[in-house]
Amino acid sequence: MRSILLYLSRNKRLESFILHFELARRAARRFIAGETMEEALEVVRGLNERGLLATIDHLGENVNSEAEALAAAEEYLKLLPRIDELGLRSHASLKLTQMGLDIGVGFCRENLERIVARAGELGNFVRIDMEGSAYTDRTLALFRELRKKHANVGLALQANLRRTERDLEELIPLGANVRLCKGAYKEPPSIAFPQKREVDANYIRLMEMLLSREARAKGAYAAIATHDERMIAKAKELAARAGLGPEEFEFQMLLGIRRRLAEELVREGYRVRIYVSYGTAWYPFYMRRLAERPANLLFILRNVFKR
Ligand SMILES: Cc1cc2nc3c(=O)[nH]c(=O)nc-3n(C[C@H](O)[C@H](O)[C@H](O)COP(=O)(O)OP(=O)(O)OC[C@H]3O[C@@H](n4cnc5c(N)ncnc54)[C@H](O)[C@@H]3O)c2cc1C
Repeated sequence: MRSILLYLSRNKRLESFILHFELARRAARRFIAGETMEEALEVVRGLNERGLLATIDHLGENVNSEAEALAAAEEYLKLLPRIDELGLRSHASLKLTQMGLDIGVGFCRENLERIVARAGELGNFVRIDMEGSAYTDRTLALFRELRKKHANVGLALQANLRRTERDLEELIPLGANVRLCKGAYKEPPSIAFPQKREVDANYIRLMEMLLSREARAKGAYAAIATHDERMIAKAKELAARAGLGPEEFEFQMLLGIRRRLAEELVREGYRVRIYVSYGTAWYPFYMRRLAERPANLLFILRNVFKR
């Protein structure tokens, strides 16, 4: 089921079909803040009031025209000053294929750098999401290049990929700010762990590297992005063992998932950041959320047949 949903997440024909359905749009609303920037900012305000931090993502990926990529970059250039004006505690997250990576690395770099530089002027931070493995090398290369000039940029790494341990080993000495996630894309077993228990074991191995005294001494920062209680418990244990204070790492979760768990962590004194997505290009994002928990799909189907 997971593979089918991930395969369908890249199907443009199904996308244009599904986008017409009000029911699908309503179901997707569980995971997205809305279609407009102001709706997302309002959601972030509510999260901040409950002690939660945020990172705002303008939905979109694999754009294939320069005009679309430029428009996406402009959206972030408007978003960052709005976050600042409203005094919200939120970063921005973006995808390089939304900034035109499929069009050209140089073009994508220019868009990305404009956003990171603007965020820097405003004292804010931009994280590069990690996409499918076809983009890993280019994402790491662009991150490294930008990180030399801008301290306010971070990236995400995926525990399902066999290469990630080596990548992390190289990023820690750079003092990188790393979001560690399990990985949301369909990958072949030659490069990714096929079993969930292997991914989980690797996630723990990577946390051990990132939530360590050595990593802290190098200035690296860990954002533990998971809703898995076992991983969260392990992160707490590792952070305590390394003597990391609550300001020295954070948990991250997606909007609409395990909200009570996020609030419990805040009550315990941890930093928790919610990934808040908005926009009209919600289809691939939503399909990946269904793939992570096919029970979500059954819930929707049940509602369809109830009508
Ligand atoms: C803040 C954040 C940023 C992310 N950024 C990236 C990225 O840049 N690149 C990338 O490839 N992936 C990214 N992901 C997705 C990630 O890779 C996983 O696909 C996703 O988080 C599910 O894995 P899990 O760690 O929650 O563990 P799982 O073992 O999949 O789930 C643990 C438990 O969490 C709950 N849960 C998980 N997913 C769902 C869901 N969709 N609906 C309802 N309940 C659910 C269930 O209770 C489940 O039992 C991100 C995730 C988060 C939280």
